[in-house]
Amino acid sequence: MAVHQAVRTPVFTGPAGWAAILPPAATRAPLAGRAGCDVAIVGGGFAGLSAARRLLQIDPAMRVVLLDAKRISEGGAGRNSGFMIDLPHDLTSADYAGSHPSQDLTRLNRAAIDFAAEAVRDYAIPSGYLQRSGKINGAASDAGMAANASYARHLSDLGEPHELLDARTMHKVTGSRYYRGGLFTPGTAMLQPAGYVQGLAAGLERAGVTIHENSPVLEFASNAQGWALRTPEGGLQAQRVILGNNGHLESFGFKAGRLMHIMLNACMTEELPPEAVAALGGRECWGVTPADPMGTTVRRIGPAQGGHRIVIRQGGAYRPDMQASAGDLARATRHMRQKFDARFPMLAGLRFEHRWSGHLCLSKNGVSVMRELEPGLYAACVQNGLGTARGTLTGIGAAELACGQQSAITRFFTAEAEPARLPPHPFDTIGANAYLRWKEWQSRLE
Ligand SMILES: Cc1cc2nc3c(=O)[nH]c(=O)nc-3n(C[C@H](O)[C@H](O)[C@H](O)COP(=O)(O)OP(=O)(O)OC[C@H]3O[C@@H](n4cnc5c(N)ncnc54)[C@H](O)[C@@H]3O)c2cc1C
Repeated sequence: MAVHQAVRTPVFTGPAGWAAILPPAATRAPLAGRAGCDVAIVGGGFAGLSAARRLLQIDPAMRVVLLDAKRISEGGAGRNSGFMIDLPHDLTSADYAGSHPSQDLTRLNRAAIDFAAEAVRDYAIPSGYLQRSGKINGAASDAGMAANASYARHLSDLGEPHELLDARTMHKVTGSRYYRGGLFTPGTAMLQPAGYVQGLAAGLERAGVTIHENSPVLEFASNAQGWALRTPEGGLQAQRVILGNNGHLESFGFKAGRLMHIMLNACMTEELPPEAVAALGGRECWGVTPADPMGTTVRRIGPAQGGHRIVIRQGGAYRPDMQASAGDLARATRHMRQKFDARFPMLAGLRFEHRWSGHLCLSKNGVSVMRELEPGLYAACVQNGLGTARGTLTGIGAAELACGQQSAITRFFTAEAEPARLPPHPFDTIGANAYLRWKEWQSRLE
């Protein structure tokens, strides 16, 4: 009998801003007493919910129970920047292309975006929560312009559509005179990530999935019938289990010493009053990722996403315990204020209404963990910072494996190598944080 106990469950710093600007969602009861199902899913983010949707597509009669440690959209799903990116997006390279830009992964990312768009249609999720509007890589320095030019060359080699934008066009789009140029690519979908995930959860419930919130899985153990899961107030017997808990895979003892846990930070402004909207100008909705992956991401959203607001993301710290301290967040907020003021001097004094940290789980060699870990136990984890698309894919893949099916998605991920080994503690932390600080300094204008 295999027993896996959680050494930690998620602890979040700051509210999930994307959820905080939506009308409050009805709470779901924690798991209580004993229950049974065909497939239990641990984690209700992009991966877990996509797995549930795929399971029902394969077998609408399947009994699926999903357990989340917190509220739906309180985790990574409500804390990211909402870019569902189709193209190569290697966060460890200087220009996103990486050494092996993968057309296979681009095709799969597009399949993930289609899967999400179909869910929006099937579950009547508001269309403002997923917009196929593309994104811009903004450049503000010589190095940024060079990175965009290099990335544009990769895109030309791949035959991918893109458009280089000049400073005037960047100003027309964003209202900011900060950017010297941009690289527009049309395939990214922009999410209101909490709205999308909440809509997905509600649609799945209507289709028969049972969801329990505030139900951290503390232990699961194999037995003759499959797996027995334990939460603080209940127990669930399942034939099969899908882990959709991203970096918390390691909390159950899997891939120890191989997963990097980065806590990233973001801030969201209060709603822009009409005079601020007029002073800013530009388009109502846009998304700018930095030309250098270590720079600052900025988004403007409108009433269809939760009000006229600006969302900014910058600064990460390597934290093997998967928690950001209040001090980490306060420091990052000060940096984000400087970045915001440099871009939007016309909005001086506008308040950050929400600020938060969230968890990225990366592997050194950029691979995910999507495979059968033990008989009847499947992982849809380690999204390498791109969990909106990659989490959707790993969730779909894990559901297919759990049903004995194969597809381009299962073939891609099961062919990936193991996550590479990291240096031991505390050398990993010291080395990674020094590296992050250095890269952030290098990309300080971006
Ligand atoms: C500031 C920031 C900006 C980002 N921007 C982007 C972006 O623009 N685009 C992009 O693609 N990605 C982005 N990311 C990364 C993205 O948020 C993650 O990759 C994504 O959320 C991972 O999805 P997931 O479903 O695998 O995991 P999560 O969304 O983290 O969901 C996992 C769920 O598992 C639950 N869980 C964990 N342990 C347990 C347990 N023991 N029992 C029960 N439930 C458990 C958690 O509560 C959580 O809800 C960003 C992240 C941050 C922090």
